[in-house]
Parts: sequence; C-alpha cells; structure tokens
Amino acid sequence: MSAVPSRLRQLDLFLEEPPSPGELGAEEAALQARYDSLAEQWKLPRARVVLSTRRATGGVITYGPPHVIRVSSHMSAEDRLQTLLHETAHAICFARWGVAEGHSPRFWLVARKLGVARRVAPETERLRRVREANARYAYRCPGCTAEWTRRTPFGRARLCASCERAGRPARLILVRRPKPGCRRAARRR
Ligand SMILES: [Zn+2]
Ligand SMILES: [Zn+2]
Repeated sequence: MSAVPSRLRQLDLFLEEPPSPGELGAEEAALQARYDSLAEQWKLPRARVVLSTRRATGGVITYGPPHVIRVSSHMSAEDRLQTLLHETAHAICFARWGVAEGHSPRFWLVARKLGVARRVAPETERLRRVREANARYAYRCPGCTAEWTRRTPFGRARLCASCERAGRPARLILVRRPKPGCRRAARRR
C-alpha cells in the first residue's frame, strides 16, 4: 500500500464527519490508480472505482464493460484498500471463469494472492448507527455483505439486487429481529 498522508489517517478517527468531496476525490483516485496497476499486471479490463458514501461498509463490483467497483467510504483506509482488492479478485475470477464464481475456494486463493486478509466487511460506526436508527429487522447479503434494515420483515425470501445484477445471486439472511420488549417503542415511531 502506498503511503497515506497523515492528514487522511487522522480522518479515520472522526468517521462521524463525512469526508469532504475533495478528500473523497483524492482517495478515490488513489484506489483507482491501485486498480489500474493491478489491471495491467493481471490483464484485466477497465473498471471505474467509486468511493461511496451510501454504502455503510464493504464494497461491490458490477461487471461491465466497464466494471464499476463501489467501496464504502465509511471504513478505514486499510479496509478500503482491502475491499478494493477483494472486488479486484472478483474481476479476475470473472475474467477467468465467468459470472458464477462467487466466493469459491478459487476466489479466495486469488484474493489471498492480492493481499486480501479479511473475509468479511468490517463493522463501521456508520453501519452501527444505521442499524440503531431503524433496526427492527436487519438483513445481510452473504455475497457482498451489504445490510438492509426494515421496519417490517420481508414476506418471503429475497435476493440481493446488486449481487443478482452482478451475476452471483445471493439470498438475504435475517440477522436481527426486534426484541420482544421493544415492541411498544417500535410501534410509536
Ligand atoms: Zn465478494
Ligand atoms: Zn449482495
């Protein structure tokens, strides 16, 4: 990983404050440059790397051309890089074996070669606050680790829309339901 200016490292201590557009732009450019050099090394097609304030954690790749890789801006610099490498591993697997590869053992071998150490997206302050704000029912996609919270449960099984679009369908799993004691408070909202 290239040197991160200490000003940016400092930013990670204050994730409550969203990064300014200028800071986002600089970090996005650094991640883009990292993808571009990996793409040259691994003979990958072009991808647009987007640092997203809308994702609470993790990342996702939408296969192109060009691929679009979205990385949550609510993570530390190290986790943003880890996420970029994870999504780049998907780009490599996509090029070699097609859309259905998912998180196969081969995928993790490729990911490890790129330096991916994490297997799950990190818990972020942003994610915690989103959960707290409207957590009745929380669903997680086991594919891209994105989370959704709802006031009411889904009536039936749901697929993650972005994973489905990316050609690796994943069924959302319920990771949180209301505690019995909270029901009255919940109804008041
Ligand atoms: Zn993945
Ligand atoms: Zn997903």
